[in-house]
Amino acid sequence: MSDAGAGTPFPRLIVDLGALARNHGRLSALAPGAEAAAVVKAGAYGLDAGRLGSALAEAGCRTFFTATASEGAALREAAGADARIFVLNGYRPEERALFAGHALIAVLNSPAEIAAFARDAPGASAVHIDTGMNRLGLTLDEARTLADDAALRARIGLVHVMSHLACSDTPAHPMNRVQLERFLAVSALFEGVERSLSNTGGVLLGPDYHFDLVRPGIGLYGGSPVGLKAHPFEPVIRIETPILQLRRVPEGETVGYGAGWTAPRDSLTATVALGYADGLMRAAEGGFARISGHKAQLVGRVSMDLCVLDVTGLDVRPGATAVFLGEDLEDLASAAGTIGYELITRLGRRFNRTFENG
Ligand SMILES: *Cc1c(COP(=O)(O)O)cnc(C)c1O
Repeated sequence: MSDAGAGTPFPRLIVDLGALARNHGRLSALAPGAEAAAVVKAGAYGLDAGRLGSALAEAGCRTFFTATASEGAALREAAGADARIFVLNGYRPEERALFAGHALIAVLNSPAEIAAFARDAPGASAVHIDTGMNRLGLTLDEARTLADDAALRARIGLVHVMSHLACSDTPAHPMNRVQLERFLAVSALFEGVERSLSNTGGVLLGPDYHFDLVRPGIGLYGGSPVGLKAHPFEPVIRIETPILQLRRVPEGETVGYGAGWTAPRDSLTATVALGYADGLMRAAEGGFARISGHKAQLVGRVSMDLCVLDVTGLDVRPGATAVFLGEDLEDLASAAGTIGYELITRLGRRFNRTFENG
């Protein structure tokens, strides 16, 4: 383990920018005919869009996706003047200055957004076509209408058409093929316009899904697009936090709020400075952390600022460091009944974010 974070106060959230760049390289290699963009919405999944955006730009990433215009504007300096920044959540007139001032590309999701954008003309645009998710985007009919209106396409400066897969986390799901067929048919009406369909899971579905550009998010950050199944990405984030106290808990004694855990034998526990205020869900009881590489189970309820690990049989001293996430990100998310995406985007503001191998 690197000690880049040494000297940074606890709790530390350490982001390995070298691993991030390698994951971007892996995604590029997995989609050799396509450009690998980076989805950095929600502050790069809660990690820090500025730091990660500039590391990705240095690694050769030229195209970024944010959710909102404010995120896009905040990213501009880190991404560089010539980077393309797409804003997924569309366009509203009150955002005109943000789009125009930071050269953001709006991803237009409805005829109303297209009309507003055509009127305000704040720059270039993309359109999102809904091929089955029923969340955002033009219907297939609305997309055909736009395809037939060359003047409108020119007025909105259309540079990209995209859709989004609903089931790419389940490669065998028939929905993937259905959406691919629909996207092939409708995007063909926009001759010569760049196309994209795939998030990280879509990249793993193979070359049919890659088109001109791919839009990975979670894989860059070392998370799994397919739940607990094997995936090709390297861990990027880990939490380091100290053991505040070790306790001998006799068999039959309980630990934490609600006396939620009863020691099944004489136990040694470690109380650690990490709680639900940091984004460790209360439901994560049943997950584990690591101490010097050894697994230590979370026992009892996670409280606001603290949790307790069962370290019976391990050689630990107070002041030793407990490590969360890393290669265990998906296990901890799954113990909490959620996915890596939700766990990492909820990591709290209390962490001292540290960046290594930049
Ligand atoms: C979030 C998002 C992505 C990235 O998805 P991952 O599963 O994190 O790779 C791609 N495209 C769109 C439209 C998104 O909203």
